[in-house]
Amino acid sequence: MDKLGVQSLLFLFMFFIYGCSASSHFSSAEFGKEIITVKQWGGTPASRSEPANDSLAKEQTIKRITLHHQGESFPEGTDPIQYLRNLQSWSRKEKHWIDIPYHFIIDLKGNVYEGRKINYAGDTNTEYNPMGHALIEVVGNFEDVEPNEFQLDAIVKTMAWLAFKYNVPVDSIRSHRDYSSKTVCPGKNLYKYFQNGYFHRKVEEYLNYK
Ligand SMILES: [Zn+2]
Repeated sequence: MDKLGVQSLLFLFMFFIYGCSASSHFSSAEFGKEIITVKQWGGTPASRSEPANDSLAKEQTIKRITLHHQGESFPEGTDPIQYLRNLQSWSRKEKHWIDIPYHFIIDLKGNVYEGRKINYAGDTNTEYNPMGHALIEVVGNFEDVEPNEFQLDAIVKTMAWLAFKYNVPVDSIRSHRDYSSKTVCPGKNLYKYFQNGYFHRKVEEYLNYK
């Protein structure tokens, strides 16, 4: 049995144990991905108790899942933890956002890190309104490089978990450039997996076990 088959069986098993009413009990681990929390990677959480953040923190309900890329080169050997710390610091000090603009960040090995708390809307330098979007960022510039198999796998699993958890239709899983004419994000080499139906097909494979 291949890996997906084993995971599918596990998924079915969990489903029978918990039943239909327990969708909130499914964690990202059931989709094959443990999320590395802000605390685990050494970041600091955005808090509404900080007065400066209170007016900026916009509460949201997830209706969409939207993919981004970093848009800059992320060479092999780059420390993802240092990248996250720098991104968090830049987001707050330079951009005056409450936190990292994305909710989840995927590194070269397919590790998935928590960014901004998902109940807070993300931020953007372009004209679309990220309210209601779960934002996933993949490190690297996919105008220049191809995503590796670890990244593709992590993208699918994170999308599937979020779609399941927040009941997001597969049609509402898109990319930044679908909402903004001012960007090529997530880059042509990642966008092609939307164009050829790969992301939607793989996510549906997971969701069909519901
Ligand atoms: Zn983007």
